[in-house]
Amino acid sequence: MSQKTYVMIKPDAVRRGLVGRIIARFEDAGLTIERMEFGTLTREQAAANYAEHEGKPFYEGLVNYITSGPVVKMVLSGPGAVAVCRKLMGATNPAEAAPGTIRGDFGLVVDENVIHGSDSPESADREVGIFFGE
Ligand code: UDP
Ligand code: MG
Repeated sequence: MSQKTYVMIKPDAVRRGLVGRIIARFEDAGLTIERMEFGTLTREQAAANYAEHEGKPFYEGLVNYITSGPVVKMVLSGPGAVAVCRKLMGATNPAEAAPGTIRGDFGLVVDENVIHGSDSPESADREVGIFFGE
């Protein structure tokens, strides 16, 4: 059964010109692009997306980073899309992400880790709501 997830190409990856290559990986895996929008997050959207991390040492830096320039916001769909996208992305810290994953191939440090993807179907519903109002 098809599932939806929220995936976002972060500002460092947009600045570095990686958008096309990253989107190709999701398309190559067979996922469908349902929605896509280019733009800079408001601090309110960033805070809503990362509410679970409020108060952690990296939180302020994370909000500054994610609002530092345009991102590519996407809703992707396909069987098991949430877990499939997390697998394609790789571990949170690019230094630990396996080669062949997006973070493993395009990132080096955890505070600029290239891409975001929902971590559960419940998070996906919440995040799609934040960014696409559905
Ligand atoms: N992050 C960070 N430093 C850390 C941990 C996380 O800057 O020590 C940032 C990083 O951008 C990460 C985001 O906070 O993607 C959310 O962290 P989470 O643990 O939810 O990782 P994710 O779900 O993105 O893999
Ligand atoms: Mg997370």
